[in-house]
Amino acid sequence: MSPRILILGGGYVGMYTALRLQRKLRRGEARVTVIDADSYMTYQPFLPEAAAGNLEPRHVVVPLRRVLNRCTLLSGWATAIDVAGRTVDFSPHRGESRKIEYDVLIVAPGSVSRTLPIPGLAECGIGFKTVEEAIHLRNHVLAQLELAASTTDRAIRREALTFVFVGAGFAGVEALAELEDMAHDALRYYPELKADELRWYLVEATDRILPEVGPEMGRWTLEQLRARGIDVRLGTKLESAKDGHIVLDDGTEFDAATLVWTAGVKPHPIVRHSDLPIDAKGRVKATSRLTVEGVDGVFAAGDCAAVPDLTHPGEYTAPNAQHAVRQTKVLADNVLAHLRGGKMGDYRHAYAGSVASLGLHKGVAQIYGRRLRGPLAWFVHRTYHLSRVPTVNRKVRVLIDWTLALFFRREIVALGALSEPRREFELATRDK
Ligand SMILES: Cc1cc2nc3c(=O)[nH]c(=O)nc-3n(C[C@H](O)[C@H](O)[C@H](O)COP(=O)(O)OP(=O)(O)OC[C@H]3O[C@@H](n4cnc5c(N)ncnc54)[C@H](O)[C@@H]3O)c2cc1C
Repeated sequence: MSPRILILGGGYVGMYTALRLQRKLRRGEARVTVIDADSYMTYQPFLPEAAAGNLEPRHVVVPLRRVLNRCTLLSGWATAIDVAGRTVDFSPHRGESRKIEYDVLIVAPGSVSRTLPIPGLAECGIGFKTVEEAIHLRNHVLAQLELAASTTDRAIRREALTFVFVGAGFAGVEALAELEDMAHDALRYYPELKADELRWYLVEATDRILPEVGPEMGRWTLEQLRARGIDVRLGTKLESAKDGHIVLDDGTEFDAATLVWTAGVKPHPIVRHSDLPIDAKGRVKATSRLTVEGVDGVFAAGDCAAVPDLTHPGEYTAPNAQHAVRQTKVLADNVLAHLRGGKMGDYRHAYAGSVASLGLHKGVAQIYGRRLRGPLAWFVHRTYHLSRVPTVNRKVRVLIDWTLALFFRREIVALGALSEPRREFELATRDK
Protein backbone atom coordinates (compact mmCIF):
# COMPACT_ATOMS: atom_id res chain seq x y z
CA MET A 1 0.00 0.00 0.00
CA SER A 2 1.35 3.42 -0.90
CA PRO A 3 1.72 5.96 1.93
CA ARG A 4 -1.31 8.12 2.75
CA ILE A 5 -0.74 11.86 2.83
CA LEU A 6 -3.51 13.74 4.62
CA ILE A 7 -3.81 17.51 4.24
CA LEU A 8 -5.99 19.26 6.83
CA GLY A 9 -7.23 22.46 5.17
CA GLY A 10 -7.61 23.31 1.48
CA GLY A 11 -6.71 27.01 1.68
CA TYR A 12 -3.48 28.63 0.58
CA VAL A 13 -1.17 26.08 2.19
CA GLY A 14 -3.36 23.03 1.65
CA MET A 15 -4.28 23.71 -1.98
CA TYR A 16 -0.83 24.81 -3.17
CA THR A 17 0.89 21.92 -1.37
CA ALA A 18 -1.57 19.41 -2.86
CA LEU A 19 -1.08 20.93 -6.33
CA ARG A 20 2.68 20.54 -6.09
CA LEU A 21 2.46 17.04 -4.66
CA GLN A 22 0.07 15.78 -7.35
CA ARG A 23 2.44 17.17 -9.96
CA LYS A 24 5.63 15.75 -8.44
CA LEU A 25 4.56 12.41 -6.99
CA ARG A 26 5.41 9.39 -9.12
CA ARG A 27 2.57 7.07 -10.11
CA GLY A 28 1.56 4.98 -7.07
CA GLU A 29 4.13 6.68 -4.82
CA ALA A 30 1.54 8.10 -2.38
CA ARG A 31 -2.15 8.96 -2.11
CA VAL A 32 -3.16 12.50 -1.21
CA THR A 33 -6.39 13.33 0.64
CA VAL A 34 -7.48 16.90 1.39
CA ILE A 35 -10.04 17.73 4.10
CA ASP A 36 -11.77 21.09 3.98
CA ALA A 37 -15.05 22.43 5.29
CA ASP A 38 -15.56 24.18 1.93
CA SER A 39 -15.23 22.78 -1.56
CA TYR A 40 -13.17 25.78 -2.68
CA MET A 41 -10.05 27.76 -1.80
CA THR A 42 -10.59 31.47 -1.16
CA TYR A 43 -8.16 34.05 -2.52
CA GLN A 44 -8.62 36.33 0.51
CA PRO A 45 -6.74 39.40 -0.79
CA PHE A 46 -9.57 39.80 -3.34
CA LEU A 47 -12.38 39.74 -0.74
CA PRO A 48 -12.49 43.56 -0.37
CA GLU A 49 -12.90 43.94 -4.16
CA ALA A 50 -15.57 41.21 -4.17
CA ALA A 51 -17.40 43.06 -1.38
CA ALA A 52 -17.20 46.29 -3.36
CA GLY A 53 -18.62 44.68 -6.49
CA ASN A 54 -15.47 45.13 -8.61
CA LEU A 55 -15.06 41.35 -8.80
CA GLU A 56 -17.63 38.61 -9.12
CA PRO A 57 -17.41 36.61 -5.82
CA ARG A 58 -17.30 33.28 -7.67
CA HIS A 59 -14.12 34.45 -9.38
CA VAL A 60 -12.20 34.89 -6.11
CA VAL A 61 -12.55 31.24 -5.14
CA VAL A 62 -10.97 28.16 -6.74
CA PRO A 63 -13.03 24.94 -6.92
CA LEU A 64 -10.83 22.30 -5.29
CA ARG A 65 -12.29 19.40 -7.29
CA ARG A 66 -11.35 21.06 -10.55
CA VAL A 67 -7.70 21.72 -9.69
CA LEU A 68 -6.93 18.77 -7.39
CA ASN A 69 -8.08 16.11 -9.83
CA ARG A 70 -5.50 13.57 -8.61
CA CYS A 71 -6.34 13.97 -4.90
CA THR A 72 -9.22 12.64 -2.82
CA LEU A 73 -11.33 15.47 -1.39
CA LEU A 74 -13.35 15.19 1.81
CA SER A 75 -15.84 17.97 2.45
CA GLY A 76 -16.50 18.47 6.16
CA TRP A 77 -14.80 19.27 9.44
CA ALA A 78 -11.68 17.80 10.98
CA THR A 79 -12.57 17.85 14.68
CA ALA A 80 -9.48 16.37 16.36
CA ILE A 81 -5.95 15.29 15.54
CA ASP A 82 -4.36 12.27 17.23
CA VAL A 83 -0.69 12.34 16.35
CA ALA A 84 0.18 9.37 18.56
CA GLY A 85 -2.48 7.22 16.88
CA ARG A 86 -1.88 8.80 13.41
CA THR A 87 -5.53 9.62 12.84
CA VAL A 88 -7.71 12.68 12.26
CA ASP A 89 -11.38 12.72 13.32
CA PHE A 90 -13.51 13.77 10.36
CA SER A 91 -17.19 14.84 10.36
CA PRO A 92 -18.90 15.23 6.99
CA HIS A 93 -21.56 17.94 6.86
CA ARG A 94 -24.14 15.22 7.51
CA GLY A 95 -23.81 11.69 8.77
CA GLU A 96 -21.42 9.79 10.98
CA SER A 97 -17.97 10.96 11.96
CA ARG A 98 -15.03 8.69 11.28
CA LYS A 99 -11.30 8.44 11.82
CA ILE A 100 -9.01 8.99 8.85
CA GLU A 101 -5.63 7.28 9.10
CA TYR A 102 -2.49 8.81 7.66
CA ASP A 103 1.23 8.20 7.26
CA VAL A 104 2.08 11.86 6.58
CA LEU A 105 -0.03 14.72 7.95
CA ILE A 106 0.07 18.33 6.78
CA VAL A 107 -1.61 20.67 9.26
CA ALA A 108 -2.96 23.75 7.44
CA PRO A 109 -6.29 24.92 8.91
CA GLY A 110 -5.23 28.60 8.85
CA SER A 111 -6.70 31.02 11.37
CA VAL A 112 -9.96 32.43 12.71
CA SER A 113 -10.86 35.97 13.77
CA ARG A 114 -9.34 36.91 17.13
CA THR A 115 -12.30 38.14 19.13
CA LEU A 116 -12.72 39.56 22.64
CA PRO A 117 -15.57 39.05 25.12
CA ILE A 118 -17.18 42.40 24.26
CA PRO A 119 -20.92 42.58 25.06
CA GLY A 120 -23.00 42.37 21.88
CA LEU A 121 -20.06 41.59 19.57
CA ALA A 122 -21.03 37.98 18.90
CA GLU A 123 -24.67 38.99 18.21
CA CYS A 124 -24.10 42.13 16.10
CA GLY A 125 -20.62 41.77 14.59
CA ILE A 126 -19.39 40.04 11.46
CA GLY A 127 -15.86 39.06 10.42
CA PHE A 128 -14.20 39.55 7.07
CA LYS A 129 -12.41 36.31 6.23
CA THR A 130 -14.76 34.42 3.96
CA VAL A 131 -16.42 34.98 0.61
CA GLU A 132 -19.81 34.54 2.31
CA GLU A 133 -18.99 37.43 4.65
CA ALA A 134 -17.88 39.58 1.71
CA ILE A 135 -21.11 38.87 -0.21
CA HIS A 136 -23.21 39.51 2.87
CA LEU A 137 -21.50 42.84 3.63
CA ARG A 138 -21.98 44.09 0.10
CA ASN A 139 -25.70 43.26 0.16
CA HIS A 140 -26.03 44.57 3.70
CA VAL A 141 -24.39 47.95 3.00
CA LEU A 142 -26.51 48.50 -0.12
CA ALA A 143 -29.61 47.41 1.80
CA GLN A 144 -28.85 50.05 4.45
CA LEU A 145 -28.79 52.77 1.76
CA GLU A 146 -32.11 51.49 0.46
CA LEU A 147 -33.59 51.44 3.99
CA ALA A 148 -32.32 54.92 4.88
CA ALA A 149 -33.68 56.33 1.63
CA SER A 150 -37.13 54.84 2.23
CA THR A 151 -37.76 55.42 5.94
CA THR A 152 -39.14 58.56 7.55
CA ASP A 153 -37.75 57.59 10.97
CA ARG A 154 -34.65 59.72 11.60
CA ALA A 155 -33.15 57.34 14.18
CA ILE A 156 -33.45 54.34 11.86
CA ARG A 157 -31.97 56.36 9.02
CA ARG A 158 -29.00 57.44 11.16
CA GLU A 159 -28.37 53.93 12.45
CA ALA A 160 -28.58 52.45 8.93
CA LEU A 161 -26.03 54.95 7.62
CA THR A 162 -23.47 54.28 10.39
CA PHE A 163 -20.77 51.72 9.62
CA VAL A 164 -18.14 50.64 12.15
CA PHE A 165 -14.96 48.65 11.46
CA VAL A 166 -12.78 47.53 14.35
CA GLY A 167 -9.12 46.77 13.57
CA ALA A 168 -6.95 48.62 11.07
CA GLY A 169 -4.74 45.94 9.55
CA PHE A 170 -5.01 45.34 5.80
CA ALA A 171 -8.24 43.32 6.04
CA GLY A 172 -10.02 46.11 7.96
CA VAL A 173 -8.60 49.06 6.06
CA GLU A 174 -9.16 47.51 2.63
CA ALA A 175 -12.66 46.28 3.47
CA LEU A 176 -13.71 49.67 4.83
CA ALA A 177 -12.06 51.67 2.05
CA GLU A 178 -13.58 49.52 -0.72
CA LEU A 179 -17.07 49.48 0.79
CA GLU A 180 -17.02 53.23 1.48
CA ASP A 181 -15.94 53.79 -2.12
CA MET A 182 -18.79 51.58 -3.36
CA ALA A 183 -21.37 53.32 -1.14
CA HIS A 184 -20.11 56.72 -2.26
CA ASP A 185 -20.46 55.62 -5.88
CA ALA A 186 -23.96 54.26 -5.26
CA LEU A 187 -25.14 57.58 -3.78
CA ARG A 188 -25.69 59.01 -7.27
CA TYR A 189 -28.78 56.75 -7.42
CA TYR A 190 -30.05 57.88 -4.01
CA PRO A 191 -31.07 61.53 -4.33
CA GLU A 192 -32.73 61.17 -0.89
CA LEU A 193 -29.33 60.70 0.80
CA LYS A 194 -26.52 63.21 1.32
CA ALA A 195 -22.90 62.06 1.34
CA ASP A 196 -22.19 63.56 4.77
CA GLU A 197 -25.03 61.52 6.29
CA LEU A 198 -22.98 58.35 5.87
CA ARG A 199 -20.72 57.88 8.88
CA TRP A 200 -17.80 55.47 8.62
CA TYR A 201 -15.75 54.69 11.73
CA LEU A 202 -12.42 52.86 11.86
CA VAL A 203 -11.60 51.98 15.47
CA GLU A 204 -8.01 50.92 16.20
CA ALA A 205 -6.53 50.13 19.62
CA THR A 206 -2.94 51.06 18.70
CA ASP A 207 -1.66 54.41 17.43
CA ARG A 208 -1.16 53.42 13.79
CA ILE A 209 -2.99 51.84 10.86
CA LEU A 210 -1.88 49.42 8.16
CA PRO A 211 1.43 48.36 9.78
CA GLU A 212 2.00 46.07 6.78
CA VAL A 213 3.04 49.03 4.57
CA GLY A 214 5.35 50.68 7.13
CA PRO A 215 4.89 53.78 9.33
CA GLU A 216 5.21 56.43 6.60
CA MET A 217 2.70 54.84 4.23
CA GLY A 218 0.47 54.04 7.22
CA ARG A 219 0.39 57.77 8.11
CA TRP A 220 -0.30 58.66 4.47
CA THR A 221 -3.20 56.18 4.36
CA LEU A 222 -4.58 57.66 7.58
CA GLU A 223 -4.60 61.15 6.01
CA GLN A 224 -6.30 59.78 2.87
CA LEU A 225 -9.03 58.04 4.84
CA ARG A 226 -9.65 61.11 6.99
CA ALA A 227 -9.78 63.31 3.89
CA ARG A 228 -12.55 61.00 2.62
CA GLY A 229 -14.53 61.79 5.78
CA ILE A 230 -13.82 58.49 7.51
CA ASP A 231 -13.65 58.92 11.28
CA VAL A 232 -10.47 57.04 12.28
CA ARG A 233 -10.15 56.62 16.07
CA LEU A 234 -6.61 55.60 17.04
CA GLY A 235 -5.78 54.37 20.54
CA THR A 236 -9.48 53.53 20.95
CA LYS A 237 -11.26 50.31 21.82
CA LEU A 238 -14.77 49.01 21.33
CA GLU A 239 -16.29 48.54 24.79
CA SER A 240 -19.78 47.36 23.97
CA ALA A 241 -22.04 46.69 20.98
CA LYS A 242 -25.16 45.50 22.79
CA ASP A 243 -28.23 45.63 20.51
CA GLY A 244 -26.17 47.57 17.97
CA HIS A 245 -25.45 50.40 20.43
CA ILE A 246 -21.74 51.10 20.01
CA VAL A 247 -19.77 52.31 23.01
CA LEU A 248 -16.12 53.28 22.52
CA ASP A 249 -13.68 53.67 25.41
CA ASP A 250 -13.15 57.36 24.51
CA GLY A 251 -16.73 57.97 25.65
CA THR A 252 -18.39 58.08 22.21
CA GLU A 253 -21.74 56.28 21.90
CA PHE A 254 -24.03 55.78 18.92
CA ASP A 255 -26.21 53.20 17.17
CA ALA A 256 -24.87 51.39 14.11
CA ALA A 257 -26.43 48.78 11.85
CA THR A 258 -23.03 47.54 10.67
CA LEU A 259 -20.18 46.29 12.84
CA VAL A 260 -17.25 44.57 11.13
CA TRP A 261 -14.62 42.95 13.33
CA THR A 262 -11.19 42.77 11.68
CA ALA A 263 -8.97 42.99 14.77
CA GLY A 264 -6.52 40.28 13.81
CA VAL A 265 -6.48 36.52 13.64
CA LYS A 266 -5.52 33.63 15.89
CA PRO A 267 -4.51 30.07 14.93
CA HIS A 268 -7.43 27.80 14.13
CA PRO A 269 -8.70 26.19 17.39
CA ILE A 270 -8.57 22.68 15.82
CA VAL A 271 -4.81 22.60 16.54
CA ARG A 272 -5.61 22.73 20.26
CA HIS A 273 -7.82 19.64 19.87
CA SER A 274 -4.69 17.59 19.31
CA ASP A 275 -1.51 16.29 20.90
CA LEU A 276 0.56 18.60 18.68
CA PRO A 277 3.13 20.86 20.41
CA ILE A 278 1.55 24.32 20.71
CA ASP A 279 3.24 27.63 21.65
CA ALA A 280 1.86 30.34 23.97
CA LYS A 281 0.00 31.98 21.03
CA GLY A 282 -1.78 28.74 20.15
CA ARG A 283 0.35 28.06 17.05
CA VAL A 284 1.73 24.66 16.11
CA LYS A 285 5.46 24.64 16.86
CA ALA A 286 7.09 24.18 13.46
CA THR A 287 10.73 23.97 12.44
CA SER A 288 12.34 25.90 9.58
CA ARG A 289 11.84 22.69 7.53
CA LEU A 290 8.10 23.02 8.19
CA THR A 291 8.04 19.77 10.14
CA VAL A 292 6.35 19.84 13.53
CA GLU A 293 8.81 19.93 16.44
CA GLY A 294 9.56 16.44 17.76
CA VAL A 295 6.91 14.64 15.67
CA ASP A 296 7.85 12.38 12.78
CA GLY A 297 5.82 12.62 9.56
CA VAL A 298 3.83 15.73 10.54
CA PHE A 299 4.24 19.09 8.79
CA ALA A 300 2.64 22.50 9.42
CA ALA A 301 2.66 25.91 7.71
CA GLY A 302 0.62 29.06 7.16
CA ASP A 303 -1.43 31.02 9.70
CA CYS A 304 -1.72 28.09 12.16
CA ALA A 305 2.03 27.55 12.54
CA ALA A 306 4.92 29.24 14.36
CA VAL A 307 7.57 28.99 11.64
CA PRO A 308 11.00 30.41 12.57
CA ASP A 309 11.89 33.40 10.38
CA LEU A 310 15.49 32.65 9.35
CA THR A 311 15.85 36.19 7.98
CA HIS A 312 15.10 37.61 11.47
CA PRO A 313 16.52 35.15 14.00
CA GLY A 314 14.34 34.78 17.09
CA GLU A 315 11.17 35.85 15.24
CA TYR A 316 8.43 33.90 13.46
CA THR A 317 6.97 34.42 10.00
CA ALA A 318 3.85 36.61 9.99
CA PRO A 319 0.44 35.10 9.16
CA ASN A 320 0.06 36.24 5.55
CA ALA A 321 -0.39 34.82 2.08
CA GLN A 322 3.08 35.85 1.01
CA HIS A 323 4.65 33.43 3.48
CA ALA A 324 1.90 30.80 3.19
CA VAL A 325 2.33 30.38 -0.58
CA ARG A 326 6.11 30.35 -0.48
CA GLN A 327 6.13 27.87 2.39
CA THR A 328 4.18 25.35 0.30
CA LYS A 329 7.07 24.91 -2.14
CA VAL A 330 9.48 23.90 0.64
CA LEU A 331 6.74 21.95 2.41
CA ALA A 332 5.80 19.80 -0.60
CA ASP A 333 9.46 19.18 -1.47
CA ASN A 334 10.19 18.20 2.15
CA VAL A 335 7.25 15.78 2.16
CA LEU A 336 8.76 14.17 -0.96
CA ALA A 337 12.20 14.09 0.72
CA HIS A 338 10.58 12.45 3.77
CA LEU A 339 8.99 9.74 1.57
CA ARG A 340 12.14 9.19 -0.47
CA GLY A 341 14.66 9.42 2.36
CA GLY A 342 16.17 12.60 0.88
CA LYS A 343 17.48 15.78 2.49
CA MET A 344 14.99 18.41 3.59
CA GLY A 345 15.42 22.13 2.90
CA ASP A 346 14.81 25.18 5.10
CA TYR A 347 12.17 27.86 4.56
CA ARG A 348 13.75 31.28 4.21
CA HIS A 349 11.99 34.34 2.80
CA ALA A 350 12.49 38.01 3.64
CA TYR A 351 9.11 39.78 3.73
CA ALA A 352 8.82 41.77 0.50
CA GLY A 353 6.24 44.29 1.73
CA SER A 354 2.56 44.75 1.02
CA VAL A 355 0.12 46.26 -1.45
CA ALA A 356 -3.35 47.44 -0.44
CA SER A 357 -6.27 48.79 -2.41
CA LEU A 358 -8.30 51.66 -0.96
CA GLY A 359 -11.09 51.81 -3.54
CA LEU A 360 -11.17 52.27 -7.33
CA HIS A 361 -7.90 53.89 -8.53
CA LYS A 362 -6.71 54.34 -4.95
CA GLY A 363 -4.00 52.33 -3.24
CA VAL A 364 -0.88 52.23 -1.13
CA ALA A 365 2.14 49.94 -1.25
CA GLN A 366 5.58 49.31 0.14
CA ILE A 367 7.51 46.70 -1.81
CA TYR A 368 11.21 45.99 -1.32
CA GLY A 369 11.50 49.36 0.44
CA ARG A 370 9.82 51.29 -2.43
CA ARG A 371 6.84 53.35 -1.34
CA LEU A 372 3.97 53.82 -3.78
CA ARG A 373 0.68 55.66 -3.39
CA GLY A 374 -2.47 56.57 -5.31
CA PRO A 375 -3.31 55.15 -8.76
CA LEU A 376 0.19 53.68 -9.27
CA ALA A 377 -0.02 51.67 -6.03
CA TRP A 378 -3.54 50.58 -7.00
CA PHE A 379 -2.27 49.43 -10.41
CA VAL A 380 0.64 47.53 -8.77
CA HIS A 381 -1.86 45.97 -6.31
CA ARG A 382 -3.97 44.69 -9.18
CA THR A 383 -1.03 43.48 -11.29
CA TYR A 384 0.56 41.71 -8.33
CA HIS A 385 -2.61 39.92 -7.28
CA LEU A 386 -3.53 39.02 -10.85
CA SER A 387 -0.15 37.31 -11.13
CA ARG A 388 -0.78 35.50 -7.82
CA VAL A 389 -4.41 34.38 -8.09
CA PRO A 390 -4.30 30.63 -8.77
CA THR A 391 -5.14 29.09 -12.18
CA VAL A 392 -5.29 30.68 -15.62
CA ASN A 393 -9.09 30.27 -15.54
CA ARG A 394 -9.38 32.63 -12.50
CA LYS A 395 -6.85 35.10 -13.92
CA VAL A 396 -8.89 35.45 -17.12
CA ARG A 397 -12.17 35.84 -15.22
CA VAL A 398 -10.71 38.46 -12.89
CA LEU A 399 -9.24 40.35 -15.85
CA ILE A 400 -12.63 40.29 -17.62
CA ASP A 401 -14.35 41.62 -14.47
CA TRP A 402 -11.89 44.50 -14.28
CA THR A 403 -12.14 45.23 -18.00
CA LEU A 404 -15.94 45.35 -17.86
CA ALA A 405 -15.67 47.72 -14.89
CA LEU A 406 -13.72 50.13 -17.11
CA PHE A 407 -16.71 50.51 -19.43
CA PHE A 408 -19.73 49.99 -17.20
CA ARG A 409 -20.62 51.28 -13.75
CA ARG A 410 -20.55 48.66 -11.03
CA GLU A 411 -23.77 46.92 -10.06
CA ILE A 412 -25.47 48.43 -7.03
CA VAL A 413 -28.21 45.89 -6.64
CA ALA A 414 -28.57 44.46 -3.11
CA LEU A 415 -29.56 40.79 -3.21
CA GLY A 416 -30.41 40.80 0.48
CA ALA A 417 -32.81 37.87 0.17
CA LEU A 418 -29.85 35.59 -0.62
CA SER A 419 -29.55 34.89 3.09
CA GLU A 420 -33.27 34.02 3.32
CA PRO A 421 -34.01 32.30 0.00
CA ARG A 422 -37.09 30.46 1.36
CA ARG A 423 -38.86 33.58 2.67
CA GLU A 424 -40.97 34.15 -0.45
CA PHE A 425 -42.02 30.51 -0.66
CA GLU A 426 -42.87 30.33 3.05
CA LEU A 427 -45.10 33.38 2.65
CA ALA A 428 -46.86 31.73 -0.26
CA THR A 429 -47.47 28.52 1.70
CA ARG A 430 -48.94 30.49 4.63
CA ASP A 431 -51.43 32.33 2.37
CA LYS A 432 -54.20 29.71 2.35
C1 LIG B 1 -9.60 40.08 3.87
C2 LIG B 1 -8.21 39.52 3.86
C3 LIG B 1 -7.25 40.08 3.02
C4 LIG B 1 -5.97 39.57 3.01
N1 LIG B 1 -5.05 40.15 2.16
C5 LIG B 1 -3.79 39.68 2.15
C6 LIG B 1 -2.83 40.30 1.30
O1 LIG B 1 -3.12 41.26 0.58
N2 LIG B 1 -1.57 39.78 1.31
C7 LIG B 1 -1.20 38.72 2.11
O2 LIG B 1 -0.04 38.31 2.08
N3 LIG B 1 -2.11 38.12 2.93
C8 LIG B 1 -3.38 38.56 2.97
N4 LIG B 1 -4.30 37.98 3.80
C9 LIG B 1 -3.89 36.84 4.66
C10 LIG B 1 -3.91 35.50 3.92
O3 LIG B 1 -5.12 35.32 3.21
C11 LIG B 1 -3.69 34.35 4.90
O4 LIG B 1 -2.45 34.58 5.55
C12 LIG B 1 -3.64 32.98 4.20
O5 LIG B 1 -4.93 32.68 3.71
C13 LIG B 1 -3.18 31.87 5.15
O6 LIG B 1 -3.19 30.65 4.48
P1 LIG B 1 -3.55 29.29 5.25
O7 LIG B 1 -3.46 28.18 4.25
O8 LIG B 1 -2.72 29.17 6.48
O9 LIG B 1 -5.05 29.47 5.73
P2 LIG B 1 -6.38 29.59 4.81
O10 LIG B 1 -6.07 30.07 3.46
O11 LIG B 1 -7.36 30.36 5.63
O12 LIG B 1 -6.85 28.07 4.68
C14 LIG B 1 -7.33 27.31 5.76
C15 LIG B 1 -8.35 26.31 5.23
O13 LIG B 1 -8.60 25.34 6.21
C16 LIG B 1 -9.98 25.05 6.29
N5 LIG B 1 -10.25 24.58 7.65
C17 LIG B 1 -9.97 25.20 8.79
N6 LIG B 1 -10.30 24.42 9.82
C18 LIG B 1 -10.80 23.29 9.33
C19 LIG B 1 -11.33 22.11 9.92
N7 LIG B 1 -11.38 21.94 11.23
N8 LIG B 1 -11.79 21.15 9.10
C20 LIG B 1 -11.75 21.30 7.77
N9 LIG B 1 -11.25 22.41 7.15
C21 LIG B 1 -10.79 23.38 7.93
C22 LIG B 1 -10.64 26.39 5.96
O14 LIG B 1 -11.96 26.17 5.46
C23 LIG B 1 -9.70 26.95 4.91
O15 LIG B 1 -10.09 26.59 3.61
C24 LIG B 1 -5.61 38.47 3.84
C25 LIG B 1 -6.58 37.89 4.68
C26 LIG B 1 -7.86 38.40 4.69
C27 LIG B 1 -8.88 37.78 5.60
